Amino acid sequence: MSSKKRSLQKKFPCRDNVIHTLYELLGDPEETFPPSIYFYGHSGTGKTSILTKFLKRTHSKTIILDCIECYTSRILYENILNKFHSHHLRKEDNFAPYMKCETLKDFITDLQQIGVDSDNNDEEEETSSYIICLDNAERVRDMDANILPAFMRLPELTGLNICCILVSQLPFEKYYTKMGLPEQMSIYLPQYNKNEVQKILTDDFERVRDRLLSRLRKNPPMQLAVDIERAEETISGLTSDFYGNFLNVFLSVFYKACRDLPELKVVSTDCFDIYVEPVLNGTIDKNDVSRLWRHITNPLKIALAQVYMRMDQDTEVRVEGTFEANQSVKKLAQSLELPYYGKYLLIAAFLASHNSAKEDKRLFVKHHGKQRKRLQTVNARAKVSEKMSTSLGPKSFSIDRLLAIFYAILDEKVGLTCNLLAQISTLVHLKLLSYVSGENNVVEGSAKLQCTVGLEFILYIGKVVGFNVRQYLCDFM
Ligand code: ATP
Ligand code: MG
Repeated sequence: MSSKKRSLQKKFPCRDNVIHTLYELLGDPEETFPPSIYFYGHSGTGKTSILTKFLKRTHSKTIILDCIECYTSRILYENILNKFHSHHLRKEDNFAPYMKCETLKDFITDLQQIGVDSDNNDEEEETSSYIICLDNAERVRDMDANILPAFMRLPELTGLNICCILVSQLPFEKYYTKMGLPEQMSIYLPQYNKNEVQKILTDDFERVRDRLLSRLRKNPPMQLAVDIERAEETISGLTSDFYGNFLNVFLSVFYKACRDLPELKVVSTDCFDIYVEPVLNGTIDKNDVSRLWRHITNPLKIALAQVYMRMDQDTEVRVEGTFEANQSVKKLAQSLELPYYGKYLLIAAFLASHNSAKEDKRLFVKHHGKQRKRLQTVNARAKVSEKMSTSLGPKSFSIDRLLAIFYAILDEKVGLTCNLLAQISTLVHLKLLSYVSGENNVVEGSAKLQCTVGLEFILYIGKVVGFNVRQYLCDFM
């Protein structure tokens, strides 16, 4: 077990503790598993990939399901039963499941039966422990209300040694305790800090070098056509120190603007191609770090702008086409991949549009000296819902005010050097914000903006980043 654990830890640097805990809790199929584990962290922190690899290496019977795909309870139940009965869907049977299973009761009854069967099969030494992993588990909340409580106490209901791992980007306390579920064991995957990102990406050096080689062979740049062999040699001679130097420069520009590991991976690989170019064609020596740095500065700036602007047209069409349809608001918010700070910026814009500026101090400054409103006034106000400013439509705000709110709601006090103005223009481009006036006076400060998204949309964005928007809306006070 410990060699498997170590090899997994090697595969996922900076996740030693998480992997250790997984092995402690679920590594030995002979030991009693916890009924459920809540496994959570921001996007790109390695939840899915670590669990997938971990489950492959255990001796339990395991299944990993994405609740986006298993969008009804029936699909969920049947998938699990198929897997636990080793039933494969076949064309000849018209892809029939192991059994039709519509209700939780049938599902539990069948699982109980698995326990009995495997007891009778002792001599075959079948595995008799089970792990169900539900990715994007927050979706289960949209299914029948009895599913989540049941999946959190499967051992008790089925008599099996079984654990359900719930995987989500949302923190448990905020979303599940409200549903009356008990607090339970959680494993949190924090976002990687800069050094960790550097370590993870440096470990990826071999892959980056191989990619460089194969690209060179496939389509050699014109100026290299004659000397391709020399270029190949140069690439093979590159060390992980050389790559480390590059990453250092790269992350000093990018890390504050983007913390999403997959995105950093893609962009850094692209930028590295540009970084090594002069080394390959012999114009800059590979040890001349300062010239290499000067050579890469501009391309990095451009790439940084693209991080904010990279929005596929597809998204834009969806934004326009389905904006009014209330039902798809959530889907839309989910499909919209804004960078982390972009989401906060949009929330700040929504608050600026729907609170009056007079309230800012009371809402965002901790020691403002004014009293909180009494509950009575609160209730009285809530009743006049037609007058609620969230339903009256957005007011305009200045960029200064937007940024002030943005910094106030951002929990971590990072000194942002990233180009927030570029993010604003991305949001405008996506029609989530619009200019009311002074579109050309953004820098000098007289531009006025408006936030065009609805309450439900912003509540969802808030959920994704773990920010309770309602708490900061005067309407809900
Ligand atoms: P989401 O919530 O968006 O589904 P996630 O937490 O499931 O994100 P993954 O899809 O598992 O994230 O990881 C994203 C990418 O980052 C994968 O390519 C994964 O291999 C890589 N990655 C994450 N953590 C590490 C790590 N510690 N070492 C190496 N690669 C990692
Ligand atoms: Mg995932």
